[in-house]
Amino acid sequence: MGGREATMVLLDENGIRCDGRKIDETRKIMIKAGVLKNADGSAYIEFGDNKILVGIFGPRDVHPKHMSDTDTGILRVRYHMEPFSVTERKNPAPSRREIEISKVIKEALEPAVMLEKFPRTAVDVFIEVLQADGGTRCAALSAASVALADAGIPMRDMVAACASGKVADTIVLDVNNEEDQAGQADMPIGYMPNLKKITLLQLDGILTSDEFKKCVDVGINGCKIVYELQKKALTDKYFGNGSN
Ligand code: ADP
Repeated sequence: MGGREATMVLLDENGIRCDGRKIDETRKIMIKAGVLKNADGSAYIEFGDNKILVGIFGPRDVHPKHMSDTDTGILRVRYHMEPFSVTERKNPAPSRREIEISKVIKEALEPAVMLEKFPRTAVDVFIEVLQADGGTRCAALSAASVALADAGIPMRDMVAACASGKVADTIVLDVNNEEDQAGQADMPIGYMPNLKKITLLQLDGILTSDEFKKCVDVGINGCKIVYELQKKALTDKYFGNGSN
């Protein structure tokens, strides 16, 4: 971030970004619920060129037993990037980055899931990034919420996620990979629109306090766009065209 000189035009004189979007526009988003036969719940998301699959297993027994909690259920999240998901082959072993993102997504989902309803058990969230293009944690978090709902896990709300950021001194919605690399700031946000609560907020880069507030507002607007598509994925599966 920021370290490399931008060789491309990140924002032209008409306010159009390097991938043709306006500053307040997200990439194209498609979400589908219930795509894996063997999982208790699942979802697939395409968020621009990101392609991510999420499978939910549980609530189920915890092994080893001492990892369980008699008062509450536990959420376990594994975020994994396929070796072929990026241009240079990625080592399939869990990287520090994947371990961090797994933790961040787990903590972002926990406020939404009614874990107290299934003590002593675990719900496993497996996230497979098939193709990555910047913003995978937000796309994965959004898909994981849909997959949890698809599994029938009781939830207070779904977490919708989208990043905002600063590119060419301008606050923009949904930072892509080039903008993340050459831009000035990237702020992934996870938000529960019904409860109006933020469950994920990270910032890579430097912002003034006014820019920070604007980034939060812009990011939350992006989350609201994602939320509508999450609900649509579920209604399409359960009340929709019957293709599932
Ligand atoms: P996020 O995907 O949530 O934006 P990062 O900011 O850490 O997370 O990563 C930005 C992007 O960098 C990823 O979406 C991916 O396109 C790319 N990337 C991450 N890890 C690798 C890697 N090992 N090799 C090549 N590209 C990577």
